[in-house]
Amino acid sequence: MQTTNLESIRSVDDVHSVSQALALAGALLARAGTLVHFGASVLETEDLAVAAVTVAEQAKAVAADRVAEAHRAGAPRRRSCRSMGVLLGERLATDSATMAPYATLGLWLGDFGDFAAAWQLGRITDAHVRLLRQLDTPLTRSLLQRDQDFLLGHAAVLQWDDFVSACRHWLNCADPDGTLPSERERAYGTTTKTHANGDVEIRSVLDPVAGEAALTAIEHEDQKLFRQSENDPDAAPELVRMNSRRRKSIALLNLLTRGFQRQDGSFPTPMVNIVMSEKVAERLLQSISEPDEPIEFDLAWDDIDRRCETIRGVPIHPRRARTALLLGAFRRQLFKPDGIPASYTKPARLFDEHQKQTLLVAARGRCQHVGCGSPWIWLTADHSHPSSRGGGTSVVNGQILCDACNKWKRDRLL
Ligand SMILES: [Zn+2]
Repeated sequence: MQTTNLESIRSVDDVHSVSQALALAGALLARAGTLVHFGASVLETEDLAVAAVTVAEQAKAVAADRVAEAHRAGAPRRRSCRSMGVLLGERLATDSATMAPYATLGLWLGDFGDFAAAWQLGRITDAHVRLLRQLDTPLTRSLLQRDQDFLLGHAAVLQWDDFVSACRHWLNCADPDGTLPSERERAYGTTTKTHANGDVEIRSVLDPVAGEAALTAIEHEDQKLFRQSENDPDAAPELVRMNSRRRKSIALLNLLTRGFQRQDGSFPTPMVNIVMSEKVAERLLQSISEPDEPIEFDLAWDDIDRRCETIRGVPIHPRRARTALLLGAFRRQLFKPDGIPASYTKPARLFDEHQKQTLLVAARGRCQHVGCGSPWIWLTADHSHPSSRGGGTSVVNGQILCDACNKWKRDRLL
């Protein structure tokens, strides 16, 4: 590593290399430390700290750039990635584990010029990059490189949850893996492992349709346990103290050992709600009747005619819904081209089940309070404009909120 003349670096703008950035950040931090020692003003020390952090950020970007360059020049992947993280970590007095991902992200970004530029300019976050990186498979790589602009456009305007959904849709039709995404299929299955201490680890990867059925079942059982602990804390004291992760494992165990048996001994059929536009359904039927014809499904996140997903908004490959199409029951929901439910009103105070489903489809199974991550099971249909103030029970005046947000909203209105 070359030595750096600190005198030549006067501000963040003068930083052009990792070593310069590191030296400057180090110097600033050292100076802040000295000042604290001599009881200097809080403001001055704070300024230095802020400057040091800014430089550290700059170093991150420069490092990513250099790593990408080194990678393009044919530097061995693993070595450069590890040494960069460790190097940054040591110099910035952060633990190297915190810094390592930046070097790794930078390395990956080396093959994706538009993503890299957006990341360095702060237009997309680390989380975006990590998600985009998950889309990169040997099968999708060239398509991902081609569609960088498209995905960045989504990243710029969408909230996080919507961006995740848009990315999944992209992957579903980008994956050119035959009639079904068989590459992914290889990962499906359950493995069990008994650890040395006797703990048992169960790991299952399910396709989106089976996953939806399993999640719904676990969530229902989990909520049953939760209510039990709320209503009768004395009867189930251990449940009261349990965090939701532990409770879910009990729920799963209940399902595995007792099954879904009702009190009268009967069993419900697992139900999965699939949302498919009429156009996608037509193509799917066509693909069943003409199995030799290669049929492409042109799916899109933001086009009501090109949607195929679970009611929670998880995109699924239309062919996975084939059985459902043949066995399932149909409900028709009408949307306008912009994805807003078409109006129908009933002289009632509460939304009926069909209206609620329409609203769920429109909300993609999420509480419409921005940033709320409530479980699916808490979601209810609610009047945007309260019925007590003349709001009609129509899907146009409906929204999906969780119990908590609904109460919060009611409290605001009172
Ligand atoms: Zn909510």
